[in-house]
Amino acid sequence: MAKNALPEKTEYRIKRYWFYAFVTLFAVGIPFVTIDGAHFFLFSFESKSLHLFFNTFSMQELYLMPFLLIMLFVGIFGITVFGGRIFCGWACPQTIFRVIYRDLIETKLLGLRKRIKNKQQEPDMSKMGNKIKKVVAILLWAVLAYIASADFLWFFVAPENYFAYLSNISEHTVLFGFQASIMLFLMYDVIKLKEDFCVYVCPYSRIQSVLYDDDTIMAIYDETRGGKIYNEHKEQIVFKQKDLSEQNECTACNACVTVCPTHIDIRKGLQLECINCLECVDACTDVQGKLGAPSLVEWSSIKETEKKAGKTHYLRPKIIGYMVILVGLMVALVIVGSKKEFMLLNITKESRPYKIEMRDSTKIVSNTYEFLFENTQGDAHEFYFEIIAPEGITIARPTTPLKIAAGEKEKVAVILQTDKMLVDTEEKTTSIEVTLHAFAVDAKETILIERKAIFFFPDSVTYNSVK
Ligand code: SF4
Ligand code: SF4
Repeated sequence: MAKNALPEKTEYRIKRYWFYAFVTLFAVGIPFVTIDGAHFFLFSFESKSLHLFFNTFSMQELYLMPFLLIMLFVGIFGITVFGGRIFCGWACPQTIFRVIYRDLIETKLLGLRKRIKNKQQEPDMSKMGNKIKKVVAILLWAVLAYIASADFLWFFVAPENYFAYLSNISEHTVLFGFQASIMLFLMYDVIKLKEDFCVYVCPYSRIQSVLYDDDTIMAIYDETRGGKIYNEHKEQIVFKQKDLSEQNECTACNACVTVCPTHIDIRKGLQLECINCLECVDACTDVQGKLGAPSLVEWSSIKETEKKAGKTHYLRPKIIGYMVILVGLMVALVIVGSKKEFMLLNITKESRPYKIEMRDSTKIVSNTYEFLFENTQGDAHEFYFEIIAPEGITIARPTTPLKIAAGEKEKVAVILQTDKMLVDTEEKTTSIEVTLHAFAVDAKETILIERKAIFFFPDSVTYNSVK
């Protein structure tokens, strides 16, 4: 853009605030949304189930987890190749918490800090007024840390159960003890550790640099316009505007430095500490805007801003590759998920193969099994089963359906019997496959599964010797 033509104001900060509001509302609201008793995401240790996209899966159906984990990693790698640490600056809870505490509570509400644009100037804590404000800030954050820790738990303990347990904390000391530790950590993290968490603790900053390429978009200082501020040994060589030549546009005002939450100087080049929040872009847009020039710090790529090698290539083969893998994984997840069974049944045969007895001068062969029913639904149902094939095998026990609460399992002894010789024991065939349908009595159309069991017969000698 030509000098003296007023550049468009970027205001990434406002866009970020809106995005933070959206992420926060989603994170706090989504645990309360249920469809037929199923949550969007709930990994419940209590009911040993995973709720995913409003479907309930029992722990025995956790074959979906590898898909989710691979999708998570591929997604993170893809986003990093595309936009560097864009997640850190725009959606990470740590960044959102720090903005709430430092910029909203300490700066806007209490005036403990002077300006959002100067994050490096710490409040003067020798003043009594500031000490009181600090205590108020800590108390306000404690309330929010409590809500944040509860929100975290709601992805592992359904909110309806969490609130029920609140009335009886002494019986749920592990749960509330865990919440207290999360809350204390959030207080230490946000008030004391601050952005050191992003710089020294978070492992993401370590892996990101190996994923970058020349088209990765990030905050970049345009050295050709602004001038060289650091030498090749990363030592600062320019401190004042007069240290720069006349054609260099950087005013050495340090607005891009003081605004940086991780306390780095973007003019030094790509640094692990940069969380891509774009505060420095906004700051320089203000400074250079007053001079009728575009920002010297841009949300751009090395190719475009540093190497001047043409426009950023957003849809490049690497990005398309990540998108293809993600779509493939999603399709696989939908296919595997659609094979989900809406109840579970494990059949175990008793070690004794069969029992044979005379009843009213009829020989009856019976086999005993243990059926383990599992209700993976969000509400209670009555479960029973029927023999589909072969004809002649009947259910001797149980004679009535089993009522099973939501997410619970129930074992039942099952006896199948027949008064017909359904196998050819002369041909040494002494077993037959039984097909059965197990179902919820009140929802047979949807909650129905098919299972196979083996029914054993005596050989002809044993059969004929029974009188
Ligand atoms: S250098 Fe800029 S984009 Fe990076 S963390 Fe600092 S202010 Fe944010
Ligand atoms: S805000 Fe812009 S003009 Fe000011 S020091 Fe940073 S790069 Fe230079």
